[in-house]
Amino acid sequence: MTMESNRRITIVGGGFGGLFAAINLTEAGTVTLISREDHFLFTPMLYEYLSGEVLEWQIAPRYKELLGDEINFVRGEVTDIDFGSREITIAGQESRALYDILIIAVGSMTNYENIEGAEQYAMPFRQLKHADALRERLTEALDRVPPDSAPEDAREALTVAVVGGDASGIELSTKIADLLRAAFKRRGLPGEPRIIIIEESNEVGHGMSDDLRATIEDALKRARVEVQTETKVMRVTAGGLQIEHNKKAQEIRAAAVIWAGGVKANTLVEKLGLERDEKGLLKVEDTLQARGHDRVFALGDIAHYINADEGLGGTAQLAYREAGLVAENVRALLNGKPLRMEHFEELGEAISLGIKSAALELDGRIVDGALGREARFAMYALRLPTWRQRFRVAPKWILGGSNPRPL
Ligand SMILES: Cc1cc2nc3c(=O)[nH]c(=O)nc-3n(C[C@H](O)[C@H](O)[C@H](O)COP(=O)(O)OP(=O)(O)OC[C@H]3O[C@@H](n4cnc5c(N)ncnc54)[C@H](O)[C@@H]3O)c2cc1C
Repeated sequence: MTMESNRRITIVGGGFGGLFAAINLTEAGTVTLISREDHFLFTPMLYEYLSGEVLEWQIAPRYKELLGDEINFVRGEVTDIDFGSREITIAGQESRALYDILIIAVGSMTNYENIEGAEQYAMPFRQLKHADALRERLTEALDRVPPDSAPEDAREALTVAVVGGDASGIELSTKIADLLRAAFKRRGLPGEPRIIIIEESNEVGHGMSDDLRATIEDALKRARVEVQTETKVMRVTAGGLQIEHNKKAQEIRAAAVIWAGGVKANTLVEKLGLERDEKGLLKVEDTLQARGHDRVFALGDIAHYINADEGLGGTAQLAYREAGLVAENVRALLNGKPLRMEHFEELGEAISLGIKSAALELDGRIVDGALGREARFAMYALRLPTWRQRFRVAPKWILGGSNPRPL
């Protein structure tokens, strides 16, 4: 297919998949990025934004700054796509956006699994505003504890339940434990906060290597995070949650219940009428084209790409690398050249383990503690979207980021 004069490349979703595809396609045609927010979000550092170790401008740069003049940016929520007329509907906008080539990368959303009260009362943790809301909730809970209260009352008032023991639940619980413990000390409160991970399977860090899980278990013990495995959340309420372990139900009062219990594909995907797998992900060819649609590419959390190691599904690492392949294939399609496939292997894992520690696993070797934290900061500085952003941020992150903002 040659499309010399039809080079409108429209990208829906400005995350790891969409933004990096846009940057890689500079000057390939008339490139337009449509996204809901006005900024990109470097999600792996959202825990450090919660603690104040990194700042908003470092992890959430505006698209206008990142994209320059060569790429158009439209802020808006896409509500429908007509693949026949190649028109994109954006909420609140009368005129439709058009495309010759379309790239869909709208990512995933929190999956509350229809558990009673979860969507209403549990706090999600995916965006800046979620981290802001969590800080506020923790600060308010701390403010309500009088310094002369009994240790067990302070502990009950500062109980935080994190649902889900995958990477996100581990990173959140260790960060919150460090933040709250420092706040107890600074405010002269008696006793300790209580942080609990509720995990349905029989282990936290499921799917990670034995060595990394051992490092994580040590970190959770040091942070005094309680781990309740083989435990199901039955209900979330305004004041806490009900769990079940070994068929025994238990109520836990909590200042905050945070949902890190899984994700599902963005609901836009359901509407599109494209072929999906049993998990609701779009089925894509080896070239990342949507099944049956040569001009449509899909990547990142919404796409089921079979040429990737199993553990890579739903990661920034995969979306970022798929963005490179999509950009190459879009250029090939425009120039009538053959499209390529690529197999993506897992490059390693990085996980935050509190304020002073992180673990990095590369080639089966683990670097953890303060050194792991420094390595993670340095590695992530290099993964930021543009060289300008990397140069601005790297000096701060290589020196260890900012001091945590106390609660
Ligand atoms: C807190 C957190 C920490 C994480 N940590 C890691 C980590 O350490 N390592 C790792 O590999 N992965 C991590 N992930 C997962 C990683 O963020 C995702 O896998 C990755 O972002 C997927 O990229 P994507 O482009 O598919 O979607 P996203 O990056 O989520 O981007 C989707 C974009 O689409 C926009 N959008 C959504 N719907 C619409 C719409 N209807 N119209 C217009 N725009 C829309 C969104 O605003 C967003 O900009 C983390 C995720 C979270 C939430």
